[in-house]
Amino acid sequence: MTQVQSSPRQVDVVVVGAGFAGMYGVHRLREAGLSVQGFEAGDSVGGTWYWNRYPGARVDSQSYIYQYWFSDELLKEWDWSERFPAQPETERYLNHVADKFSIRDAIQFNTRVEAAIWDDSAKRWTVSNDRGETLSAQFLLMSTGGLSAPNTPPFKHHEKFKGQIIHTGRWPKEGVDFAGKKVGVIGTGATGIQVIQTIAPLVGQMTVFQRTANYTIPMRNPQYDDAARAELKARSKAMEHRVHRTFAGFDYDWQSTDLMAMTPEAREAQLDEWFADGSLSFWIGSIQGVLLDEGINAVFSDFVKRKIRARIHDPKVADLLVPDDHGFGTRRVPLETKYYEAYNQPNVKLVSVKATPIVEFTERGIRTTEGEHECDIVIFATGFDAGTGALTRVDIRGKDGVSLKDAWAEGIRTTMGLQVHGYPNMFMTMAPFSPAAAFCNVPTCLQQQIDWISDCVKYLRASGLKVIEPSLEIENKWIAHHDEVSAMTLIPKTNSWYMGSNIEGKKRRLLAYPGGVNTYRAACEDLKAKHYEGFEMA
Ligand code: NAP
Repeated sequence: MTQVQSSPRQVDVVVVGAGFAGMYGVHRLREAGLSVQGFEAGDSVGGTWYWNRYPGARVDSQSYIYQYWFSDELLKEWDWSERFPAQPETERYLNHVADKFSIRDAIQFNTRVEAAIWDDSAKRWTVSNDRGETLSAQFLLMSTGGLSAPNTPPFKHHEKFKGQIIHTGRWPKEGVDFAGKKVGVIGTGATGIQVIQTIAPLVGQMTVFQRTANYTIPMRNPQYDDAARAELKARSKAMEHRVHRTFAGFDYDWQSTDLMAMTPEAREAQLDEWFADGSLSFWIGSIQGVLLDEGINAVFSDFVKRKIRARIHDPKVADLLVPDDHGFGTRRVPLETKYYEAYNQPNVKLVSVKATPIVEFTERGIRTTEGEHECDIVIFATGFDAGTGALTRVDIRGKDGVSLKDAWAEGIRTTMGLQVHGYPNMFMTMAPFSPAAAFCNVPTCLQQQIDWISDCVKYLRASGLKVIEPSLEIENKWIAHHDEVSAMTLIPKTNSWYMGSNIEGKKRRLLAYPGGVNTYRAACEDLKAKHYEGFEMA
């Protein structure tokens, strides 16, 4: 039912999205005395952890840093069961937080925001949703997630397929029965890997359609007992301080080890030691050269290739699963558990869609150039239109009615991923050109961004100001800095969602700021200390 409203309801801020950032945004802004209306397309909180309920979904950050820091009581009372919890546990945690801090009261669920139009005479946003409601808000907080707009490649004739097609980012709540089924999985990124390793023992047959093989690290996931939890909780304040001061927002950071000066044996032993931690520290807590120096990168690449190959029985299958077209860590490195062993099962087949591309869907499955592969269910683990997708799928219009989608089609622009010139009073989290967009333990960056945004809003109010917008100059300066730092890394050499190259027609550009969470945070703090110098305020 749509409603017709004559004069839109006025609120101080509209928050779009009820994931980690949106929930925290509601909490902080309400605490600052603002009237807040949240909107969420799902029927509950959780964001990523609401939508991605596919089998095997699990976090790759340690639970003790993948959480909120704002409440000592919450830190004390919540018990994580293991180092890398599965989706239901993180979803339960976010629901617990929502209940404890009455966050749901501010959020209208099952409601998708469709448009946000800046009214320059009123200096307010007019926000409308798919229920036909319109609101007027002084501030707009887009916490729509960086990996939330599913990418569903337009495979020819997919509508002919008589079976079920499911995108991992829209997994049905009631679950899926795989027993005896022929299952196709398209995609072998972090998501595909988790799905494949989890359902391989359950399915009748599985065909994996792989385009690019990824480097991986075997996950070490110990269960926590009371003693382990007590030890972690005792360190939580120190950990909170630490995560904001490391390169990637984790509690580990780059080390000064001179790997290249070591003997081959000592180097291998060092790599083995880092690898054995079973976490992303092998990648973003080892040595920075891995992302900057071709020679160092080649050493890591060779090491991981050997680790992968050793686990696969059939050398021809190993040839496909060992990455051959990019360097280690230049795309997101997934953690895995018995992923390669799945391919040693007789009922699991690997199809390289690089060698034999998908031609079309048929009634019975998928036809590649080598023939038809029968499927009852096809899982799209095909990722997301990252960074920009969730923002450009809303019709956002700034000054002079300029659409953000159109503006970004020319080239993405943001000031530190927080605001965009021409879009006053609009704040974003996990948006392009901040580390949050990819190179961060996401909750670290989201909380830092929300804290910065709520401090900024509090400053405006205390100063009797109503509007804030980055100047063109400060935006250009940040973009030039972002591009300069990006070019120093090896990441732009590789195609992935990091570069936007997973989406047809999207201009290739490193989405996330690779200068470090620590550096970024210092720049944000500096801006705040200088009372948002370079921003236009009125
Ligand atoms: P992704 O990394 O973008 O992977 C998508 C996969 O689909 C890739 O293998 C891609 O191949 C393939 N693909 C896309 N279009 C295709 C096409 N037309 N034909 C054939 N294959 C196609 O997406 P994701 O796996 O969902 O992961 C996205 C991000 O979410 C991760 O990088 C990570 O940051 C986050 N995530 C985190 C966790 C965790 O913490 N445990 C788990 C899951 C996801 P190409 O590689 O050749 O493009």
